[in-house]
Amino acid sequence: MSVSFELSEEQEQLRQLAHEFARDVIRPAAPHHDETGEYPHEVLRQAHELGLMNTHIEEENGGFGLSALDGLLIAEELAWGCTGIGTAMEANGLAQQPVIIGASDELKAKYLAPMTENYSLCAYAVTEPGAGSDVQGLKTTAVRKGDTYVLNGSKMWITNAGVADWYFVVALTDAEKKARGGMTAFIVERDWPGVIVGKKEWNMGQRASDTRGITFEDVEVPAANVVGREGDGWKLAMAAFDYTRPAVACAAVGLARAAMEHAAQYATERKTFGKPIAAHQSIAFMIAEMAMNIDAGRLLCWQAGSLKDAGKRNTRQAAYAKAFCADMAMKVATDAVQVYGGYGYSKEYPVEKLMRDAKIFQIYEGTSQIQRLIISKEIFVRNR
Ligand SMILES: Cc1cc2nc3c(=O)[nH]c(=O)nc-3n(C[C@H](O)[C@H](O)[C@H](O)COP(=O)(O)OP(=O)(O)OC[C@H]3O[C@@H](n4cnc5c(N)ncnc54)[C@H](O)[C@@H]3O)c2cc1C
Repeated sequence: MSVSFELSEEQEQLRQLAHEFARDVIRPAAPHHDETGEYPHEVLRQAHELGLMNTHIEEENGGFGLSALDGLLIAEELAWGCTGIGTAMEANGLAQQPVIIGASDELKAKYLAPMTENYSLCAYAVTEPGAGSDVQGLKTTAVRKGDTYVLNGSKMWITNAGVADWYFVVALTDAEKKARGGMTAFIVERDWPGVIVGKKEWNMGQRASDTRGITFEDVEVPAANVVGREGDGWKLAMAAFDYTRPAVACAAVGLARAAMEHAAQYATERKTFGKPIAAHQSIAFMIAEMAMNIDAGRLLCWQAGSLKDAGKRNTRQAAYAKAFCADMAMKVATDAVQVYGGYGYSKEYPVEKLMRDAKIFQIYEGTSQIQRLIISKEIFVRNR
């Protein structure tokens, strides 16, 4: 893998396209969706039209087959616009990734290909009420009966659950084996009998995205809807994160960049003790720290994405990027509120929303503690 900080002309154009969309469409729509929690279908439809969604679906299924790094460039810009809307868009990528990695050609043609033509949504349904960080504790079961599996159980905190046409679901097919071949992944359609979607959660931030529980009551899933082979569920669910964690991390970079820009601008306008607050060293240094950490975070994301594109294992680097950028975005957003003083605490100014939106980066797609667990296992177990 060569090291270069130069983007190709196509990548610059892609970044510019995503940036202009974030500036002209996402930002103007964001306050309404944050306030009401209404799902931003109209924004997503336009993004779909422009080719800013489902970007990793392979060319043979009608997609663009963009690289991991290309995806990071888009994720940062969309998140710079609004991470609630960005998450609503990127959740498709999370559900699609394990299908891209492991599904049969028939399943890809049936569920992925149509998404490149028409705007539609899907969701990654792995977490359960009693199994978040500890995915191995999941209790949803799938029992084989002839050509179908009968699915029973509950999922929790599923992004896009209320608007998705299909779910990537992981269930136990052998309770003894669990992660060692006892978990199986399925594509489950939302309209099938026995699929019950819960109410929308009223979250602290990223309110444009749709988070709900799902209950499965004797849902009959055709055996043809197994993703990969029986027993591949754990492997596929985890493999997706090597692609999606760098993208989530890059979204955190986008949020931090927005917060820094607002803070830097405000610091030149607000005066105390006869001078702009940017002229007080403690404020200027706070903004210098933001700039430095935003660049460091982006480089970690690009490293993780580039390793994936080079066909190399990137689990450790994906965890570095996710942990660093999530914690960094939370700090930058909190410091941006500090730069604004009392005004930062008010909904009238943009940084209040950014601080609320930032928090979830430390929780979803593996908490900041779980990323450190992964990194420490890489150091003490894998490399031993
Ligand atoms: C808005 C939102 C959207 C989400 N979207 C999705 C989605 O689309 N699909 C999906 O499947 N899931 C989704 N999730 C679920 C998310 O991934 C989980 O919430 C997350 O993994 C944490 O699990 P938990 O909430 O059960 O917390 P817990 O696992 O109960 O953790 C509680 C606390 O304990 C810490 N902890 C737990 N175990 C350890 C350990 N071994 N060492 C150190 N600390 C530990 C955690 O870091 C955390 O601070 C979403 C969650 C939210 C809130």
